[in-house]
Amino acid sequence: MTQSLLQDIKVTKTENSKISQVDFNNLSFGSTFSDHMLVCDYKNGTWEAPEVIPYQPISLDPSSKIFHYGQSIFEGMKAYKDENGDVFLFRPLDNFKRLNISAKRLAIPELPEAFFMEGLKTLLEVDKNWIPTTQGSSLYIRPFVFASGKGFHASPADAYKFIIATAPSGSYFAGKVKVLIEEKYSRSANGGVGYAKAGGNYAGQFYPTQLAVAKGYNQVIWTDDNKHEYIEEAGAMNIFVRINDSLLTAPTNDRILDGITRKSIIEIAKQEGINVEVRPISVTEVVNAAKNGSLKEMFGAGTAAVISPISVFGYQGTDYTLPELDNDYASSLKKRITDIQYNRSEDPFGWRI
Ligand code: PMP
Repeated sequence: MTQSLLQDIKVTKTENSKISQVDFNNLSFGSTFSDHMLVCDYKNGTWEAPEVIPYQPISLDPSSKIFHYGQSIFEGMKAYKDENGDVFLFRPLDNFKRLNISAKRLAIPELPEAFFMEGLKTLLEVDKNWIPTTQGSSLYIRPFVFASGKGFHASPADAYKFIIATAPSGSYFAGKVKVLIEEKYSRSANGGVGYAKAGGNYAGQFYPTQLAVAKGYNQVIWTDDNKHEYIEEAGAMNIFVRINDSLLTAPTNDRILDGITRKSIIEIAKQEGINVEVRPISVTEVVNAAKNGSLKEMFGAGTAAVISPISVFGYQGTDYTLPELDNDYASSLKKRITDIQYNRSEDPFGWRI
C-alpha cells in the first residue's frame, strides 16, 4: 500500500495505547478496536478536513437524525499484511464508490475520494501495528457515515459524521452453515434501498433471522419480495449456487448489494474456465437440482467470511443436504481470492494496492 499523499490530515496520537492488552492469537471478529479512528464532519454544506484521533465514544444530541430517521450507511473492508509485513488493501476504490452510491440513496452528501482514500491510508499508517498476521486474520475496516444534525423533522440532516474505525480480527470461518429459504419476509424491494449498505437494511434482517435461528438454521436466504420465487442473497452475503459444473449467481439490482467479493469471484471463476451464469435463480430450480443430484454447492460470498459454504438448506418444511465434495469450487475460489488479498500470488486483475 502506498503512503498517504494528503499532507494535511491532522493526527493526534493516543497516550494510552491498548495494543499490549490484545491477544493477537485469539482474535474474534470485529470486537476489539484499534487505538485510532478517522473522523470527518459535514457542516455548513461542506465536508471538513478529516483528522485521525484516539478511538473514543461520540457525543450526540438526542435529536440527532440518525436516532430517528436512520440516515446511516457503512462499508466493510479489510487490510492485509503479508509475510514481509507489507500492508495491502483489496479494491478499496470500489468500497469508496459504493459508499457514495449508498450516500446518494439515503440523501447523505457524497464524500470526496481523497478524504476516504487518503484518510484511510493515514489511519492505517498510524495503526499499522494493529494489522494482525496470524493465518486468516486481518484488520477489519468499518467506514461509516451518519446524520448527526439535529431536529425532530423527517427530512435530511444538515450535519453528518464520517468515521473510519478498525478492528483486528481473526478468521470469520464458522464452519458450514445451515440456511432457510425465506418465504415470508424480505430484506429489500424494487425501488427500495437493498442495493445500498444502509444501517436499516440490517436491522430489518434481524427478526426474520431470529425466527430462522429458533428453527435451527444459522441464516436466511433472501428471496425476491414479489413472490419469493428467486434466491437473492445469503444473510449479509451474496449467494452462489453450483449446478453440475456451472456457477450461478443472481444479477445485482435494486434489491441486491453489489458485493466486491461476488464480482471478484465471478472474474476468478471465469479465468479458471468455470462456466459462470449471472441470472435469476429460482427456488424451484435449486430444489429440483437438489432432488436430482445436480446441486453440488451453495455458498455465500462477502468480505468478512470471504466464502461461507452451505451444508443444508430448508424450504417448505424439508431440509436438503448438499454433498461433500473433494474438489469444491468454494475452497479453490477462496484460496485464489485470499492468495491475492494476502500477496501470496500474482494479482492478474490489479485488485491489490
Ligand atoms: N450483501 C450484503 C447485504 C452485504 O451486507 C454484504 C457485505 N458487505 C455483501 C452482500 C457482500 O459484499 P462484499 O463482498 O463487498 O463484502
